[in-house]
Amino acid sequence: LLGDDGVSRPTIFAEMSALATSRGAINLGQGFPDEDGPAEVLDAARRAISDGLNQYPPGRGMPVLRDAIAEHQARFYGLAYDPDTEVLVTAGATEAIAASILALTEAGDEVVTFEPFYDEYGAIAALAGATHVTVPLRAPAFQPDLDELRAAVSDRTRIILINSPHNPTGTVLGREALELIVELAHAHDALIVTDEVYEHLTFGVPHIPIASLPGARERTVSISSGGKTFNTTGWKIGWLTAPAEIVDAIVAVKQFLTYVNGAPFQPAIAAGLRLPDAYFRQIAGVLQGKRDLLAAGLTRAGFRVSSPQGGYFVIADAAPLGYPDAAELCRRLPDLAGVVGVPVSAFVRTERAREYASLIRFAYCKKLELLEGASAGLVRLG
Ligand code: PMP
Ligand code: GLN
Repeated sequence: LLGDDGVSRPTIFAEMSALATSRGAINLGQGFPDEDGPAEVLDAARRAISDGLNQYPPGRGMPVLRDAIAEHQARFYGLAYDPDTEVLVTAGATEAIAASILALTEAGDEVVTFEPFYDEYGAIAALAGATHVTVPLRAPAFQPDLDELRAAVSDRTRIILINSPHNPTGTVLGREALELIVELAHAHDALIVTDEVYEHLTFGVPHIPIASLPGARERTVSISSGGKTFNTTGWKIGWLTAPAEIVDAIVAVKQFLTYVNGAPFQPAIAAGLRLPDAYFRQIAGVLQGKRDLLAAGLTRAGFRVSSPQGGYFVIADAAPLGYPDAAELCRRLPDLAGVVGVPVSAFVRTERAREYASLIRFAYCKKLELLEGASAGLVRLG
C-alpha cells in the first residue's frame, strides 16, 4: 500500500482531482459525472431525511432497497435472488469489493484480475495477504488472450475478480471469455467476484452478467452501485448479490468495516432501480454521444484513441504526439492544455508500467461544453 519509498500517498484519482482544482483545469481525471441524476432519486432522498430516516438502518440494508436490488436483477438479467438472504447493501461498490476479498481469501490465496485494474483490487488483495495474479489487456483492443487467462488460473486461485464494463479500458467481456471464466472457476474450485458498476453503460454491445451463465450463479458475487447509474457517486450506496452462505461470510466482515451505511439514500436508490427501462437506455445513449465527442477531439489533437464499448473512460496514446511518458505528460497537461487525465500506468503494477507508459485515461462522463473545451485545449499539444 506504500510507495517504493515507504510513504503513503493519496490515490491517483484524489491526486489528479486536486491538480485540476489547483490549476483550474478541466477535470477528465477522476470518473464522476458533473450533472445531477434523475429528480425521482434526488427527491426520494430529501423526503427520506424529512421523514426521519436518519438513524442506523438494518445491517444488510433497508428492505425497500434489498427488494429493489433483487427486482432489478430479475428484470434485467432473469436472475433470482432472495432479498432477505442473498442481497447485501454496502458503502459503495468499494466496500463490496473490499469485504468480499477480505471475507473470501486467506493469506497466500491468489486473486486473479485483468491488468490494467481498478486500483482497489491490488490494494485490498495486499491487505488480505493474498497474491495478486494478473492477465494483461493489451492495446489497442484491450481484450483478454484466452490462453493467458487459462494459464493464470490454478488450484491456488481463490477468486477470479472481473470487471465489465472495464475501468480503465472500456472493454466489455463477451460470452466466450465469460464462459471460460466459469469453466476455470469450476475446474479450480475458485469463486468469481464481478464488478459491474458500469452495467447500464454499454454502447451497442450487451452487458452479460457472468452470474447469468450456466453454472456461475452458485459461485459468483455480483457487485454494483448506484453511483454510476444515477449520478450519485457521493452517496456511496453499493450492493452485492450472491448465494446466502457467501453473503453471510461477507456480512461478517462488512459489519466491522462500516456496520451500516447511508439510511436516507437507500430508499432513494431503490426508487432509481425501479425507474422504467427507458431511463436506463437513455443514460447509455447520452454517454455514447459524449464518448464520441471526446474521442473525436482526442483524434483531432493527434492521439491514437481506443474504442471503449462501455463505462466512463477512453484511452488515448500520446506516443504519436511525441510524448512517450504519459505520467510526465499528465503532470504538465493542466499547463499545456488546461486538462487533467490519469496515466494508465496508475492501473498496472510497476513491472508492467512500461508497456502502458504512453497511455492516458480520460473520463467523458462530463458536460458536452466541458468536453468541447477539453478538445480545444488538447489540440494545442500538436
Ligand atoms: N469499481 C470500479 C471499476 C470503479 O470504477 C469504481 C469507481 N468509480 C468503483 C468500483 C467504486 O464504486 P463506488 O463509488 O460505488 O464505491
Ligand atoms: N472510480 C473512479 C475512477 O476510476 C473514482 C474512484 C475513486 O476516486 N476512488 O476515476
